[in-house]
Amino acid sequence: MSKVSKCMCEECYYNDNFVCQADYIEVRSSADDYQVKSSQETCCNTFKHGRKE
Ligand code: SF4
Repeated sequence: MSKVSKCMCEECYYNDNFVCQADYIEVRSSADDYQVKSSQETCCNTFKHGRKE
């Protein structure tokens, strides 16, 4: 199973010093026509706003 090597979304609840702490992530297309041609047209759907205390 792949692991997230680095995530720059510090605003995510699961992010701890650029390491994803989620058990799994779901990635979806964010392209308008759903025809993904670059990483910029992908999106982590597991993102949750907030901070772990
Ligand atoms: S859930 Fe997604 S956005 Fe949040 S830290 Fe993991 S990879 Fe990054």
